Amino acid sequence: VAKQAGGDRTMLFTQSIKEQLERRKLIEQSLIAAIAAGQFELYYQPKVGGLSRQVCGYEALVRWNHPQLGILSPSEFIPIAEETGAILPLGDWVMEHACLHAKELNDLGFENIPVAINVSASQLSDPDWLDRLLFILQKTKLPTHLIELELTESQLLVDIDHSTDLITYIRSLGVKVALDDFGTGYSSLSYLRNLPLDTLKIDRSFVAHLQENQENYDLAIIKAVKALSKQLGISLVAEGVEKAMQERILTEIGCDQLQGYLYSKPIPAKEFLALCLRSLTEEEEKFKSQ
Ligand code: C2E
Ligand code: MG
Ligand code: MG
Ligand code: MG
Repeated sequence: VAKQAGGDRTMLFTQSIKEQLERRKLIEQSLIAAIAAGQFELYYQPKVGGLSRQVCGYEALVRWNHPQLGILSPSEFIPIAEETGAILPLGDWVMEHACLHAKELNDLGFENIPVAINVSASQLSDPDWLDRLLFILQKTKLPTHLIELELTESQLLVDIDHSTDLITYIRSLGVKVALDDFGTGYSSLSYLRNLPLDTLKIDRSFVAHLQENQENYDLAIIKAVKALSKQLGISLVAEGVEKAMQERILTEIGCDQLQGYLYSKPIPAKEFLALCLRSLTEEEEKFKSQ
């Protein structure tokens, strides 16, 4: 094949594989030092109420301002951090900073909008992780009802008994727990019965092709998940909402919360704070003019 493709193309091909490997190596080697060097930053993406369309929560999404590679997406470096174990200190950093920002927002008078934090499987299975979570909560003085942990199915299924115990304990503290990317994992319905959850986040792949009168099954699946979450007493969030038509359909189905570029992309903490303050003033003006 190499000969048929010609020397130049083979060169290009090997070049890019080499580049990819070097990029990966660079990421792998600089992860830990980057935490202390302050190269990570939390971006925030709001969630809005299905009916109110007001900000009713937000998700912390980590970014890496890499000195050589520019802004890196978590989908590139989180898997590497998971493989190398760097996810433990990085996850602690995320937890602490998300709680600090959330406390700031809470002190400004936003008393009921929780921050959602993504947690990896290796954090859940680390025997000391819970202690560090408790320590961070204590240190930042964030009321526990203002934090929600987003876990994925595959993460929970690594050790379902341990996960169930852990979640039960975490929820007894008042911390909320959401199942992220619902529908993309094993989607074994039997574990849903035993897992104490607050929220299901239906994966954006189901939202992406939503259309009225569509021939594919996405609409039917979301409706079924809504019925299920209602029966289980869990709230339903749709992620990846980009179009007004998707919003219309999801609202009609009764999704409790919506999240996606239609409302806002993930934005830096300062911008998110400004967005919250702006929506507060808008509310007040509306109230005054009534
Ligand atoms: P996720 O938790 O499912 O987050 C949703 C992802 O979808 C985010 O990508 C978000 O920017 C993107 N998104 C939101 N709305 C839309 C939309 O309307 N259209 C499209 N096309 N995309 C949308 P992001 O920020 O690149 O994060 C990717 C994944 O990385 C996250 O998926 C999460 O699994 C992981 N991640 C991010 N931050 C952390 C973290 O602090 N810790 C851990 N363990 N994982 C994280
Ligand atoms: Mg998430
Ligand atoms: Mg998700
Ligand atoms: Mg995801």
